[in-house]
Amino acid sequence: MLNDFQCPSCKGQLRVGEQVIFMTKSKKWQGGLILLHPEPGNYIVENHPSFKLEEGEHVDFYCPICHSKLTSEKHKNLAMVIMKDESGKKFEVFFSKIAGEECTYQVIGDSTEIYGKHAKTYLDFFNLSQTT
Ligand SMILES: [Zn+2]
Repeated sequence: MLNDFQCPSCKGQLRVGEQVIFMTKSKKWQGGLILLHPEPGNYIVENHPSFKLEEGEHVDFYCPICHSKLTSEKHKNLAMVIMKDESGKKFEVFFSKIAGEECTYQVIGDSTEIYGKHAKTYLDFFNLSQTT
């Protein structure tokens, strides 16, 4: 079963089928829909061919339902959504808003699981006492 993803503001469901939908904006783009894979560590991104993201570009993520900006207090480059697994466990999932940066932090209580080849970039902003 696939994990569910919810907006932290309106609790709306962001996963449809096998993809998680976000509205995004960048300095160059007024708005584009982006589809991410629900499995942490899978960085397949789908969007319209006209919506080209350049490596290193800062992309803001918004909930497509309530239009809240998905930010996190941990770092301005990280977005946060709620993830629920099949057993109903709730995680906070943080991911980078920088195009091309592959890092995901899945947090429940004091434990953090990290994914992606750039995961070291924001490690200092997470309590990683459980993984040392
Ligand atoms: Zn929302």
